[in-house]
Amino acid sequence: MPISVHADFDAGALKTWEVQGTHILLHLAPYAFNGRPRGVWFYVRIEGAKDSTLTVSFVTDEYDLHGYNAENKVSMSRDGVQWEIVSDSSGSGNDYRFTFHATTERMWLARTAPYPLSRVTSKVQEWLEGPWIRPSRSADSMGRIMRSSGDPWLSSGAYTGVAGQVIPPCPLYALELAAPGLPDDAPVVVLFGGNHAGEHMASYVLEALVAWWNSDEPEAGALRQQCRALIYPMVNPAGRYGGYVRGGPEFPMGDHNRIWSPEDRGQLDHVDRIKEALAFDAEGPVEIFLDAHNTERVSDTFMYVNTSMMFQNDGQTLLPLLSRMMKEIPHFRLQETDSLLIESQNTTCKSWAAVAEDGPQATYSYTLEPGSPTKDQLGQCRLYGESLGRGLFDHFVGQQEQRSST
Ligand SMILES: [Zn+2]
Repeated sequence: MPISVHADFDAGALKTWEVQGTHILLHLAPYAFNGRPRGVWFYVRIEGAKDSTLTVSFVTDEYDLHGYNAENKVSMSRDGVQWEIVSDSSGSGNDYRFTFHATTERMWLARTAPYPLSRVTSKVQEWLEGPWIRPSRSADSMGRIMRSSGDPWLSSGAYTGVAGQVIPPCPLYALELAAPGLPDDAPVVVLFGGNHAGEHMASYVLEALVAWWNSDEPEAGALRQQCRALIYPMVNPAGRYGGYVRGGPEFPMGDHNRIWSPEDRGQLDHVDRIKEALAFDAEGPVEIFLDAHNTERVSDTFMYVNTSMMFQNDGQTLLPLLSRMMKEIPHFRLQETDSLLIESQNTTCKSWAAVAEDGPQATYSYTLEPGSPTKDQLGQCRLYGESLGRGLFDHFVGQQEQRSST
């Protein structure tokens, strides 16, 4: 059977491919770059290569892979479920290539372990079976915000990706996590995932955080008694299904994290819907807003913060949430960003959440940036997510204990 390459599935991404003997050349999807030479996403299935040692390289006629090197790891799978890092990679930029031995008839290759949209759906279904997670007030019984067949986004039909996958109407979920009976005025934490569709590690981090928060851990139970989480696990679902990196099928070369200013209203129906849903679900001020992303390099594990959102006690001590993560996550650092000013057409979700007039006016707003991927990709995501959960415990429960003891 000749070697062939496929990407026509959930989160698959590739433009086209060539095979020269045992050398596979992958032409990455054009929207893998969005004008910046990083943030690559590809996810393919290779067939007919059993017992061959394959070399894979990227074809870069159209793009400059400047800055891409062996630190930008590649993942492979022999069953489409378990993923490992391809260790034998070399070169950099436009000469980057990697080699591995195919032991099975089918192989999968991706930038990191993929988190397809179907996993979002299966996790939502699983979580809704437990006692602590329910659809948000704006969602239907399946936890979906977008449910009207007359919705312009749903009814506009399927999108066709460059790689050949047809993108179906994709669900947009909104969930609430709290102990039953928690007062309506309890503080609110908002979690966003999938803003950048190609950042799959971010989804594993969010999953780990929600799994911890939804668990029998005593700290998680105490947190559920103190605040309400509103979870929008995939805010760019068609982008994730279609294998996009920063954009989505409605705006392939755009950036889903620069379309949150009030002036952007009307640009993307699903973003308008998320904003409306959050306003309705939160019903009041939001204490902490977390937008889950991930970086492209192993060495970069951090969180984007604004100086004003780092300290308490008149700038004397680091916020408990941040100090817990500094303690628990190796190499974790805080990356200060500049002002929170809203600039038209250039607004990140984090800024929108903190200061925009149509935003939730979050007291603390952060962008999560776990590094990706290390050898133990999912273990690293779990640590980041669970540490975040324990940090939220420190913020809400630890602080309260301090208050009541003084
Ligand atoms: Zn991002």
